[in-house]
Amino acid sequence: MKVSFKDFRNDVPPNWCPGCGDFAVLAAMQRAFANLGLRPEQVAVVSGIGCSGRISGYIHTYGFHGTHGRALALAQGLKIANRDLVVVAAGGDGDGYAIGLNHTIHAIRRNMDITYLVMDNQIYGLTKGQTSPRSAMGFQTKSTPKGSIEAPLSPLMMALAAGGTFVAQGFSSDVNQLVSIIEAGIKHRGFAFINVFSPCVTFNKVNTYDWFRERVVPVETIEGYDPHDRKLAMQKLMETDGMLTGIIYQDPDSVAYEDRIPGFRKEPLVRQPLKPSREDFEAL
Ligand code: SF4
Ligand code: MG
Repeated sequence: MKVSFKDFRNDVPPNWCPGCGDFAVLAAMQRAFANLGLRPEQVAVVSGIGCSGRISGYIHTYGFHGTHGRALALAQGLKIANRDLVVVAAGGDGDGYAIGLNHTIHAIRRNMDITYLVMDNQIYGLTKGQTSPRSAMGFQTKSTPKGSIEAPLSPLMMALAAGGTFVAQGFSSDVNQLVSIIEAGIKHRGFAFINVFSPCVTFNKVNTYDWFRERVVPVETIEGYDPHDRKLAMQKLMETDGMLTGIIYQDPDSVAYEDRIPGFRKEPLVRQPLKPSREDFEAL
């Protein structure tokens, strides 16, 4: 039976604000899973704390709404226990780049075969609008009323420097691009790191949809862009102030952490019949 994105819907209505960028990320995940022919029981979505962290409750797959900044610790544990499960971790920039940053860096360099989506709205939304590690210098919020005096984190350059084997960036306003990035990320044999510009329409009145639209630079628009060239990826990220979108870097020879463990059992530790098989999946 053909799988549809509707198979990944549940009956829990999201309580995100109307217009929140996270709606598009949820829809893109549902479409990507369906396009890959996955069934809900083959997928686990693990999230941290924040508005975006609710996403694991709004999708019809296995779901785990974990603790703040620990989505990747949980996701990696799940993957090592059941290597046939498609594991997707998700959270916000506060979750992944502040309290959870150390997990993010080590998960990137460890290169387990999981996909990580960061809904980057450059603010703390759930706690009603404080400066995040992604907020720009001078950004005014309740926590920095005279403007932030800290430099923002550059997540994609950080991921490349940490040895990332799949580094990509999407934008909630371009769902088709995001669907194809998520599909490619799931098919990638290793850790797929995907930052998504996902505007907070309620508390961030600076980094709006229009603000991003005016600044994003899709890699397809750069003549001769080679996503297998890490140095070029770093250079173009610097030239565009981190506004590149698309698959920015992918190592075609990536070997996942699980496949490097000598003698590690081939079968999942948790047994359950899953289709398609790993071979079917690779052939996609
Ligand atoms: Fe989205 Fe911001 Fe509303 Fe949270 S507060 S649901 S991030 S728009
Ligand atoms: Mg945030």
